[in-house]
Amino acid sequence: MTSVMWFRRDLRLNDHAALARAAETGPVLGLFVIDPHLWDKSGAVRRVCLLRSLDALNEAMDGQLVVREGSPTEVVPAVAKDVGASTVFISADFAPYGQQRDAEVERALLDDQVALESVGSPYAVNPGVVRKSDGTPYQVFTPFYRAWCDSGWLAPVANTTPSWLNLVSDPWPTAELPAGVTLPAIGEQASLDLWRTFHTDLIDEYPDHRDRPDLAGTSSLSMALRWGHVHPRTLLAELNDSRAHDVYRRELCWREFYADVLFHVPQSARHSLKPTMQAMRTDSGATADARFAACTEGRTGYPFVDAGMRQLVAEGWIHNRVRMVVASFLVKDLHLDWQRGASHF
Ligand SMILES: Cc1cc2nc3c(=O)[nH]c(=O)nc-3n(C[C@H](O)[C@H](O)[C@H](O)COP(=O)(O)OP(=O)(O)OC[C@H]3O[C@@H](n4cnc5c(N)ncnc54)[C@H](O)[C@@H]3O)c2cc1C
Repeated sequence: MTSVMWFRRDLRLNDHAALARAAETGPVLGLFVIDPHLWDKSGAVRRVCLLRSLDALNEAMDGQLVVREGSPTEVVPAVAKDVGASTVFISADFAPYGQQRDAEVERALLDDQVALESVGSPYAVNPGVVRKSDGTPYQVFTPFYRAWCDSGWLAPVANTTPSWLNLVSDPWPTAELPAGVTLPAIGEQASLDLWRTFHTDLIDEYPDHRDRPDLAGTSSLSMALRWGHVHPRTLLAELNDSRAHDVYRRELCWREFYADVLFHVPQSARHSLKPTMQAMRTDSGATADARFAACTEGRTGYPFVDAGMRQLVAEGWIHNRVRMVVASFLVKDLHLDWQRGASHF
């Protein structure tokens, strides 16, 4: 049976549940769709990150990745038809836009008697699974963490070597990094190398060093987890019961906790989670715009804030403690909407 593996936020070949399932069923066409809805509103750095991720994936697939541009509702059924696929495999997307898009693609595929099969997700435990005994979602992290650990997760998925099919790709879009911006090596192998260094050399000091933005003491894996160069399960499988490993496990769980919050309250992507906070007044107009520009360009005059904002621009990454400070500064000192800051990040 021929199938399509539609890659999205899972740009890797190892520990990939959906890809392993596709490979079991027969020849696989690996597809990535450049969706104008997401591409058009992405900044240059995000676009370059995506293109480099696709480059790395394509190289690992010996050049067999098919990249098409357009609405997934049209592109995915057309590719499935061209290759004679009976199933399109995906890793589940729990974010609001992804859920709506996948429902539309599923309907379009059904018209051609093609199934959309969701296997796994970018999380160790899918959002919505961990709940209180009365079935309601957790709103506080620590009890969520305990329940998340209790629920457990699967071991990494054994790697498979798919038999790749191919079709002609559309010309890949291009994107240029702004002057002065440098990005780290991007892709699955680079991320696994980063993890190996962190796990071997840095993790034992992580409980203390993670509070020190002046040290390179954290894993720097947020981008890799975001694009799915590595699955959190791969990392969790190598953590033991020591305090240092538990502190790192908790950080991975924060990512899952916020995905769970977004799953239960999708409007929290744009509106305050706590309704009372929506009454908070912030500034607008030319002065507020100037303050926002100064903040995003690292010109507030507060060295700690400015260093973080400049690092974000220069490297596409910011330390967690600095992220906390700049978020607080934007709202409490500059009196700006948190949504403005979130969209800049
Ligand atoms: C206001 C605010 C917003 C943030 N938004 C994001 C975000 O959109 N995406 C993101 O990946 N991180 C976010 N973070 C967390 C954090 O700033 C970055 O994940 C971290 O700087 C990445 O560095 P690292 O990989 O070296 O982190 P490490 O200290 O090595 O942590 C390991 C991993 O834990 C995860 N993690 C830890 N805390 C969070 C968190 N609060 N939310 C999500 N994941 C977390 C990340 O995937 C991170 O890579 C946010 C933090 C704050 C305070």
